[in-house]
Parts: sequence; C-alpha cells; structure tokens
Amino acid sequence: MIPITSTAGSLFIVAAPSGAGKSTLVNALLAQEPQIKLSISYTTRPPRPGEQDGREYHFTSAEDFLKRKAQSEFLESAEVHGNYYGTSRILIEQQMRAGTDVLLEIDWQGAQQVRKQFPGAVGIFILPPSIPALEERLKKRGQDEPHIITRRILAAGGEMAHSPEFEYVIINQDFATALSELNAIVKATRCRFTQQATRNSELFAQLGIHANPN
Ligand code: GDP
Ligand code: ADP
Ligand code: 5GP
Repeated sequence: MIPITSTAGSLFIVAAPSGAGKSTLVNALLAQEPQIKLSISYTTRPPRPGEQDGREYHFTSAEDFLKRKAQSEFLESAEVHGNYYGTSRILIEQQMRAGTDVLLEIDWQGAQQVRKQFPGAVGIFILPPSIPALEERLKKRGQDEPHIITRRILAAGGEMAHSPEFEYVIINQDFATALSELNAIVKATRCRFTQQATRNSELFAQLGIHANPN
C-alpha cells in the first residue's frame, strides 16, 4: 500500500456514541456539501426498518465479512456492539487519489486504524448534551430493540473516553448550531495550506509561492 500524503482531498472521520446524532448531522452536511463522498461501510448488523442495502450500509453475513477481511479488502474494521463493521479500502484510496473529500462514519477503533494510514485525516467526535438525552434519542428513534438500546447506552461511556483522540468535538445540543460547527470544520480544513496549494497549483506558481520556502 502506497501512503497518500499530498492530495487536494480531505479525509474526515466522524465518530460518536450511538444516538448522539452522527448520521443525522452527516446527512444534513452532505445535503449542503454534495461533493463530499460518504463511505458506505460493510456491516453484519441486520438492516433497521427503512434501511436499504448499498445506501446506509452494505449488509452482509459474518462469513462474507471475514472472507473480505482475510483478503485485505478493508481499510479498517472493528467489532462494535456485537457486529462487525468495515470500510472498503479500494473506494477510499481511489477517491483520495482523485482529490475528492471523503467522510467516514466509523467508531473510535476504526478511527485509530485509519489515522495510521492517513495521518492528515481530520477526526470529529460528536457528543450528546447528556446521557439521559442520548437515551431519549435512541428510544425516540425507535429503530432498535430495548436490549440493543441498553447495550449501546452502556457502551457510550467507553466510546466517549476516546474523544480526546479527535481534533474536533461538537456537542450536539441545538441541531442547527452543531451542523454549522460541522460545516465550519469542513470549510476550515479546505483552507489548509496543503489543500489550497494542491488544488490551486497554477495560481500558486504564478504568484511565486513555493510549498517549501526553504
Ligand atoms: P449508530 O451508532 O446509531 O449510527 O449505529 P450503527 O449500527 O449504524 O453503527 C454502529 C457503530 O459502528 C458506530 O460506532 C459506527 O460509527 C460504527 N461503524 C459504522 N461503520 C463502520 C465502519 O465501517 N468501520 C468501523 N470501524 N466502524 C463503523
Ligand atoms: P447516531 O447516528 O449518532 O446513532 P442519529 O443521527 O440516528 O444518531 O440520531 C439519533 C436520534 O436523535 C434521531 O432520532 C435524531 O433525529 C435525533 N437527534 C439528532 N440530533 C438531535 C438534536 N440536536 N436534538 C434532538 N434530537 C436529535
Ligand atoms: P449502527 O449499527 O447504529 O449503524 O452503528 C453503530 C456503530 O458502528 C456506530 O458507532 C458507527 O459509527 C459504527 N460503524 C459504522 N460503520 C463502521 C465502519 O465501517 N467501521 C467502524 N469501525 N465502525 C463503524
């Protein structure tokens, strides 16, 4: 595998305990920023009502997942809440080479694995305003069995303990505020020197700006 160091595209990693609002925030961001490519993970979790294969996830069996894993098809993979989840390597590497912004909705274990391969990845952790609010949102979402909700709430503390590993933290209390913060992080990342210089290489050359002034 060739490390991808200089690219105009950015890799965003969004993580959160279940119910913090990660998918709702990411979907709203993508509606505003359609050029960001969302990675569709593989999972062995059964689809929730309304979820479609290939849209929210590629739903698969444990046997198929482990076969793909053995063939190094995943950039990262992890067991979360008793199911396997994994990110397809080929898609991410193609998009990154093409200079496209890519967003991964993955857990902290996957984030650690991705960061080793893409040190420039931008980590964003979404926190709920409180544990009771998290519980309330999971119940209101109404898509998981009560024992699954309990399992996810019990896991939340351990997941949030990894939030210091992320560059940015958003507290999803007021949704509109949280969304504008997420948007601001994306916009600021695009203005990083390396991203601008790669995207606007001709202009930088015309202006006599060199990436390494020494
Ligand atoms: P949610 O927490 O309500 O969004 O529930 P999901 O079942 O969709 O996701 C469960 C967990 O798996 C979350 O922590 C996700 O971030 C994580 N997850 C989803 N896809 C991936 C993936 O491709 N890789 C890894 N490592 N984690 C993933
Ligand atoms: P996650 O992907 O982190 O598991 P979701 O995006 O599915 O979480 O959000 C969980 C539930 O909380 C959804 O029903 C969503 O509509 C709701 N929600 C998200 N953000 C907020 C917010 N700021 N205030 C109130 N409810 C919210
Ligand atoms: P859910 O089953 O509720 O969709 O997701 C549960 C958790 O799995 C979430 O924390 C989600 O971010 C994580 N998750 C989803 N896809 C992936 C993935 O591809 N890799 C990893 N590591 N975690 C994932």
